[in-house]
Amino acid sequence: MTTDFYHLLISDCALAAVLLGLFFYVSRVSRGVRGITAWGVAHFVYSLGAALLDGTAQVVSQSGSPELARVIAGLGGVLACAGLIGLAWSVIQFVHQRALLPVERALMPLALALPLGGWVLYGDSDAQGAAMSAVEVFALAVMIWQLRLLRTGPDHVPARLMMIACVALLYLYGRDLAHALTGRYGPNPSWVNADLSIWFMLNFCMLMLASFRAAESLRQSALFDPLTGALNRRGLDSELRSSARFVTLEGGLAVVALDLDHFKAVNDHHGHQTGDRVLQRFSDVVRGCIRSDDLFVRLGGEEFMLVLRETSPEVAHLLAERIRTQVMSLEFASPAFRITVSLGIAHTRHRHTVFNDMMRLADEALYAAKRNGRNCIELRLHPAPAR
Ligand code: GH3
Ligand code: MG
Ligand code: MG
Repeated sequence: MTTDFYHLLISDCALAAVLLGLFFYVSRVSRGVRGITAWGVAHFVYSLGAALLDGTAQVVSQSGSPELARVIAGLGGVLACAGLIGLAWSVIQFVHQRALLPVERALMPLALALPLGGWVLYGDSDAQGAAMSAVEVFALAVMIWQLRLLRTGPDHVPARLMMIACVALLYLYGRDLAHALTGRYGPNPSWVNADLSIWFMLNFCMLMLASFRAAESLRQSALFDPLTGALNRRGLDSELRSSARFVTLEGGLAVVALDLDHFKAVNDHHGHQTGDRVLQRFSDVVRGCIRSDDLFVRLGGEEFMLVLRETSPEVAHLLAERIRTQVMSLEFASPAFRITVSLGIAHTRHRHTVFNDMMRLADEALYAAKRNGRNCIELRLHPAPAR
C-alpha cells in the first residue's frame, strides 16, 4: 500500500466529478434522453466508495485507528455497491429509454444488503471487499447483457468497446472476489492502473454514446412538430431528399392534403388548449390509419399532408375515407362537440412528376372538398407529363 496509490484514487474521484459535470451537460443538451446524468452520478458515487474502501480505510488503519478504518470501509462498501447498481440502472435506462421496472428497482436493496450485512456481521474490509466485488461482477454482467442490444451504427462501436472493457473488469473483480472470499482482500496496486484506465475508457465510450443520442434528439426536434409528433416542413424536405421515396411508382404516388373544418370556431368556443388537444387526437387517428413508411406532415396550423408511396387512387381514397369517418366519430367533452376534416387527394403514376406539382394538385382537391360543403374527399389524377 503506497500513498501514491491513495492519491491515484483521490484523483480518480476528482475526475469522476468532472465527468459528472460533462454527463449532466450532455443530458441537458439532449433533452429527455434517459440514463445519461444517472451514469455520471452513479460513477461518481462508485469512485467515492471505492476510494474510501480501498484508500482511506487502509491509510487510517495503518495509522493506528482500526475502529475508524472499519467505519470508513463500511461506508465505502455501501457507496461503491450503490454506485455499481446505479451504473447498471443507467445502462438499462439508456439502452431502452424507459423508466425502470419494479424488478430492476429491486436490485438496489438486494445489492445494498450485501455490504451492509458484511459490515454488521463481520465489520472487516474482507467482508466489504467481497460484497463490493460480488456486486461489481453482477453489475458488469448486467451492463454487458444490455449493451449487446446496441447493434446499429453509430452506437455499435462504443457499445462493443464498453463490452470488452466490462469483460476485462469482470476478470479483475472476479479475482478480487476470490481473494476476498479466502481472506486476502486488499487493494492491488499492481493492476490499479489497468483498472482505472478501463474505467476511463468506459466513461469515454459512454460519453460518446450520450453525445450520439444528444445529436439525434436535436435532429429529431428540428424535424418534428412537438405538438402532434408529425413531421414539419423541414422534416418533409429531409425525407424527400434522403430517399427516392416518390420516384418508384409501380402502384403510384398519392399526396393527401387534410384540413380540419371550422377549426377556428373550435378555438373560439372551447379555447386554444382544447384546440391543441383536438390537433393531437386528430394526429393520433391519422397515425393509426397509415403504414409505417407513409409520411405524415404538419404543414402549419390545422393543415396536414400525407405522402403515400406505392398506393393506387382507390387505396388512397379508402384510406382517406377511413380517416374521415374516424375523425367524425371522435368525441370531445365539456361541452361535448365533434370535428370533421376535408381531404384532397392528388395521384400520379408518372415517375418524373414534380413533388410541388403534386402538393398544388392536392391543395386544389382540398379546396374543391371545402367548396362541396366540407367533411368530404376530392380526388385529382395528375395528367401524364408532355413528352
Ligand atoms: P375551414 O373549414 O375553411 O378550414 O375553416 P377553419 O376555421 O378551419 O380555417 P382557418 O384557416 O380560418 O382557421 C384556422 C385556425 O387554426 C386559426 C388558428 O387560430 C388555428 N390554429 C392554427 N395553429 C394552431 C395551433 O397550433 N393550436 C390551436 N389551438 N389552433 C391553431
Ligand atoms: Mg380548417
Ligand atoms: Mg386551414
